[in-house]
Amino acid sequence: MTINRRTFLGTSIGVAASLSAPMVMGAGHGRPKVVVIGGGAGGATAARYIAKDSKGAIDVTLIEPTRTYYTCFFSNLYMGGFRELSSIGHTYGKLAADYGVNVVHDWAVGIDRDAKTVTLAGGGSLPYDRLILSPGIDFVDGAVPGWDVSAQNKMPHAYKAGSQSELLKAQIESMPQGGTFCMVAPPNPFRCPPGPYERVSMVAHVLKEKNPTAKIIIADPKAKFSKMALFQEGWGNHYDGMIDWIGADFGGDNVQVDPDAMTVTIDGEETKVDVCNVIPAMKAGRICEMAGITDGNWAPVSGHTMQSRIDENIHVLGDACAQGDMPKSGFSANSQAKVAAMAVRGALTGSKVFPAKFSNTCWSLIDTDDGVKVGATYEATDEKIAKVDGFISKTGENAELRQATYEESIGWYAGITSDMFG
Ligand SMILES: Cc1cc2nc3c(=O)[nH]c(=O)nc-3n(C[C@H](O)[C@H](O)[C@H](O)COP(=O)(O)OP(=O)(O)OC[C@H]3O[C@@H](n4cnc5c(N)ncnc54)[C@H](O)[C@@H]3O)c2cc1C
Repeated sequence: MTINRRTFLGTSIGVAASLSAPMVMGAGHGRPKVVVIGGGAGGATAARYIAKDSKGAIDVTLIEPTRTYYTCFFSNLYMGGFRELSSIGHTYGKLAADYGVNVVHDWAVGIDRDAKTVTLAGGGSLPYDRLILSPGIDFVDGAVPGWDVSAQNKMPHAYKAGSQSELLKAQIESMPQGGTFCMVAPPNPFRCPPGPYERVSMVAHVLKEKNPTAKIIIADPKAKFSKMALFQEGWGNHYDGMIDWIGADFGGDNVQVDPDAMTVTIDGEETKVDVCNVIPAMKAGRICEMAGITDGNWAPVSGHTMQSRIDENIHVLGDACAQGDMPKSGFSANSQAKVAAMAVRGALTGSKVFPAKFSNTCWSLIDTDDGVKVGATYEATDEKIAKVDGFISKTGENAELRQATYEESIGWYAGITSDMFG
């Protein structure tokens, strides 16, 4: 289905309006063409900024299969009962209606870098002058022995938000009294470094209320993790004795699971569990591999423009790219999208391009009104996106400051989602 300004306004029934086949812009159209694959934190922002700032001089098409994008950011808060699922769902109507972005709800299934075309699952192909890839992550096959995506209903990852988040939340809420929740945490680098540990905090928050004798085990292939001291202090303060973190030094890197038997074996010791959240090792969304622009698991880019180091007509944003010192976060993807949008406009319309600057903050909620954050600013060097300076919440902070940090995160969520979707 394609939605552009004309069809959106003409039908006035928004994104649900259905045309049977994707509209494919023919070659020979006068304006330069940008195709964006992936309508998440990176892709939606890039599409909006290019369309908005070029004032119609660039023809922007956004390819995204889902009609409602659920942000992974704040999906842990949904799991903890602090947000409704509907509050983290966003649609693409404004991008079409207010910014003239041609929104195509389909999968990109092929990229011909010589012909500069993108093939769609629904048929047809889209020509581009510049292509932006922001497809997020996929999982590395065989990363957790015993688990593959066919087991995701028994042992959900919930690392792409939406139905997986709903499933995991339902499983947590129906755990037997005194039952066991296990998380298999991912190795570096992965989407949202504090994400697994915020999730454990939110699971503990729910269990403390509904199932206070339940246990949480984290099998972690890492010896340390993001905001570790802050989380461990918070777990001690709020959920004392409930959470058992087994890091690499204690066998957390030697794990296998059996989704049928609902068992997890950590360093040879088998445990029966009631809920198992498997978050496998990650790599760039598959379309990057298909385009031949990865170097192993991630797509290398120049931080100056977010251009692929393999194909200068392609820019890669967000989790999919090898982004130097930046963490894989929604804030990072949004920040990188603005750098790419400026570079693309400069290349296609001659507009001025300023030196790339990036920023990121990752907030995490540990318990009610107990928010913490870590963040930094970055600049592009010829080698990578390099950290300039950073900050992190401190252990022992008072309750007022922690509440203010949580409230800051709520403001950030409203800001970034309106920056993405208009
Ligand atoms: C539990 C959790 C908590 C998080 N919390 C935070 C947080 O508090 N703050 C923060 O900044 N970040 C957070 N993140 C990280 C953040 O969600 C990601 O880093 C961010 O979404 C990355 O943006 P992206 O554009 O790379 O990918 P995404 O936002 O995942 O967007 C990718 C899009 O591409 C589409 N797509 C994929 N393949 C194709 C294809 N072939 N054709 C067409 N479309 C395709 C997908 O449908 C998807 O909509 C969290 C993540 C998780 C899992």
